[in-house]
Amino acid sequence: MRNWIVAGNWKMHNTIAESVSLAQAIKEATTAVKNGEVVVAPPFTALHSVSETLKGSAVKLAAQNMYPEDKGAFTGEVSPLMLKDAGCAFVIVGHSERRKYFNESDNQINLKVRKALTTGLKPIVCVGETDGERNSGVTQAVVNRQVRKALDGVGVGQMDRLVVAYEPVWAIGTGKVATPEQANDVHDFIRRLLVEIYGCAGADVRILYGGSVTKDNIAELITIEDIDGALVGGASLKADAFLGIISKMP
Ligand code: PEP
Repeated sequence: MRNWIVAGNWKMHNTIAESVSLAQAIKEATTAVKNGEVVVAPPFTALHSVSETLKGSAVKLAAQNMYPEDKGAFTGEVSPLMLKDAGCAFVIVGHSERRKYFNESDNQINLKVRKALTTGLKPIVCVGETDGERNSGVTQAVVNRQVRKALDGVGVGQMDRLVVAYEPVWAIGTGKVATPEQANDVHDFIRRLLVEIYGCAGADVRILYGGSVTKDNIAELITIEDIDGALVGGASLKADAFLGIISKMP
């Protein structure tokens, strides 16, 4: 039995005051949530203030990235210990925008996943193909590589803290959501891969869908066996839109 997750990735949006106000609205409206977890990922600058705002609620805090060292001369980076100190339970790793704009490699993502897990953070590991890759028929090959490399050296005992997000790159921020068939094919593929590598522990890993999720398209997607929730970008920036998605969870 896997509990759902709806996670909002606020990306590079919201001042501290805007973040606190959005978090407060989400906190107030989710007191009755059952069988799942609501997660918000504000920008680094707002993490601590949002953590204070969320105290006394079940809404969890995530960071959008981290550097895979505890501390050191890594100007501009933020460590997993700092994220825990700021109140984070989760960290998004390997988002396609990081892969694309910051050239994050599968190896760097693997270091982050391993470090997050050993530090006690739950990584939300993003994988997904580009438009060109889908059109060339290599979606499964790409996702296979991304998942295997991200999890290289990750043990079976760490599966209960792993979350995978399938985010087709062509669906992110485009309004072009994957069809239920497309999403089902890849989620099923990822599930089989996790079970092949980790046995029954792989069956318990939550796999989220991400890419232009709204309250109108999530209802059908969430009925799919291996879709355990959503990673939401644009629609997580307005309380009503985000809460509308949460209201569709089983
Ligand atoms: C994302 O950034 O992870 C995402 C899924 O964005 P959007 O919902 O805006 O497509």
